[in-house]
Amino acid sequence: MTNVTREEAERRAAELRDLIERYNYQYYVLDAPSISDEEWDRLFRELRDIEERFPDLRTPDSPTQRVGAPPAAAFAKYRHSVPMLSLANAFGADELRAWHDRVARLLGVASFPCVAELKIDGLAIALRYERGVLVVGATRGDGTTGEEVTANLRTIRSIPLRLHAAPADVPEVLEVRGEVYMRRSEFDRMNEQRIAAGQPAFANPRNAAAGAVRQLDPAVTASRPLRFFAYGIGEASPPLAAQTQWTLLAALRDFGLPVNDQARRFERFEDVLAFCSAWESKRHELDYGIDGVVVKVDSLAQQQELGSVGREPRWAIAYKYPPEEAQTTLLSIEVNVGRTGSINPYAVLEPVRVGGVTVSTVSLHNEDYVKAKDLRPGDVVVVRRAGEVIPEIVRPLLEARAGKDLPRWELPRHCPACGAEIYRPPGEAMAYCTNSACPAQLREVLFHFAQVMDIVGLGYALCNALVESGRVHDVGDLYALTKDDLIALPRMGEKSAANLLRSIASSKDRPLWRVITALGIRFVGEQNARLLARAFPSLDALAAATVEQLQAVEQIGPKIAQSIVSFFAQKPNRIVIEKLRRAGVRLEEHAPERPTDGRLAGKVFVLTGTLPTLTREQATQLILAAGGSVASSVSKKTSYVVAGDAAGSKLAKAQELGIPVIDEAELRRLAGAS
Ligand SMILES: [Zn+2]
Repeated sequence: MTNVTREEAERRAAELRDLIERYNYQYYVLDAPSISDEEWDRLFRELRDIEERFPDLRTPDSPTQRVGAPPAAAFAKYRHSVPMLSLANAFGADELRAWHDRVARLLGVASFPCVAELKIDGLAIALRYERGVLVVGATRGDGTTGEEVTANLRTIRSIPLRLHAAPADVPEVLEVRGEVYMRRSEFDRMNEQRIAAGQPAFANPRNAAAGAVRQLDPAVTASRPLRFFAYGIGEASPPLAAQTQWTLLAALRDFGLPVNDQARRFERFEDVLAFCSAWESKRHELDYGIDGVVVKVDSLAQQQELGSVGREPRWAIAYKYPPEEAQTTLLSIEVNVGRTGSINPYAVLEPVRVGGVTVSTVSLHNEDYVKAKDLRPGDVVVVRRAGEVIPEIVRPLLEARAGKDLPRWELPRHCPACGAEIYRPPGEAMAYCTNSACPAQLREVLFHFAQVMDIVGLGYALCNALVESGRVHDVGDLYALTKDDLIALPRMGEKSAANLLRSIASSKDRPLWRVITALGIRFVGEQNARLLARAFPSLDALAAATVEQLQAVEQIGPKIAQSIVSFFAQKPNRIVIEKLRRAGVRLEEHAPERPTDGRLAGKVFVLTGTLPTLTREQATQLILAAGGSVASSVSKKTSYVVAGDAAGSKLAKAQELGIPVIDEAELRRLAGAS
């Protein structure tokens, strides 16, 4: 570059600016980069070198000028030439319908077309372009006056510094409105890097985005993964040709602005409702947060006619989803004792509404989990509940911890139920109560047995009372209980005692898979127990099976097989089985063998969601009766996934693996049952 003339440099600089902005557009707006990062860096460096040699060639819209402004002492105020309105909210379909009906009445029509746009969970901003060049970027502020953050917004590469348009088509003034946000994936990566560098993590993408836009040093803003979606305009002179919101979005896209591609135009209001409800359950599939859907009257003339009340336009409304994250206080960390004696930490929270439910306790899994998140009683924590997923604590708010002297949490050394020592085997995540006669363990074991064996009336409190009475030391003792034993329990009358004895007696005739499940063998839940009961005709046959024989059963891997063998090798377990046998509990399968020539022979089904008429149990029976089998998780071996309402991750997995997804009607047809 040493011997170029000024003319050559000028021509090349213009070419490079075009190229770099085009590649930025492909990468940040279209999500379709056509060159490598290295190639981009090379072009960028070349342009910077030219501009250093010929500083007068440096233009304000040059990509090298995205970052470079010095830190500001404070932000200037910026008065929006057209106020940035705020939207009224609708919570639920009824409120959305009420809005629709009100608008229809005001317009004197029966219905009107709407545009529905995802409501991005970020920070609202305005971008002012004069003759196509970005001159001002500002926050929304109170809607009338915001803060001028131009230097910061220039660092966001999905925001064009110059609109894409032929000079004749560029408006004199165009003010673009939209949302600055962060993608979840990029947010997570940034947080990982911050934690690795010993910096505090950000609570959520929205706070991180808002904080980054309001940094006084643009270089800091530039280091954060901000993105932008445009959704509307303020001042436009001359006015754009668009007559509808829908064509306005298209015009923004043509100007090179990123517009969310999930927006839809609907003629019928019912379809708007369906769109809102569909995204409520699908919102987790997106790589960015949304907190609802914005519904707008499509016709700009109708928008004009409707006008605003105060600061709220009548022609648009925000349909809000329940928040999926909330902050609350972590009151304490307690532990309970599981069936296997595992010590399970859980958080006791100041009750908080999140994801549409009130959450007051959250599982913390194990010691390492608590330590990795560094949760301390007294912390303010972020709680997340997304869709049907079990609530979790995302992280403590470290800024809220400042000044408080909160000690680190330590796993208790003694079992809260029996006082025995807690032991964590090397290499395991779980710690255990070392007392095999621990009353808390026994209570869990009994309750699990009662649930699986369908012993009506034997609830959790009663299991506890039986353990405390000292009459029951294992599940085998249940069948030796007498009326007198029961009447001696608190709040147990003669009649309920008789009822309970009857239901214990009737549990002696359950199918073998229930007995296998009820024993509580590690890793053997209902699905595996069904497979085992089909492969081994009796509990004795199962107890005698070797690891190799067990592994020959579909879905039974080495870990499960080993767990089964160890279970039957332990003397206390053999004693329990003898008690069951003596009590007359059925330990073999009398039912006819599963047909191997049924219509569904060799087919593996996975059930997910709620089917219209069949319960999970009935659907399973239908499949088994036709010779098929049911598995609990989707794998390459799955033949069909039967999906009902509110189908979850299994459905997504099936689609990912290309496994056919069928509904109840199709299942009935396949099984020959319709
Ligand atoms: Zn214990």
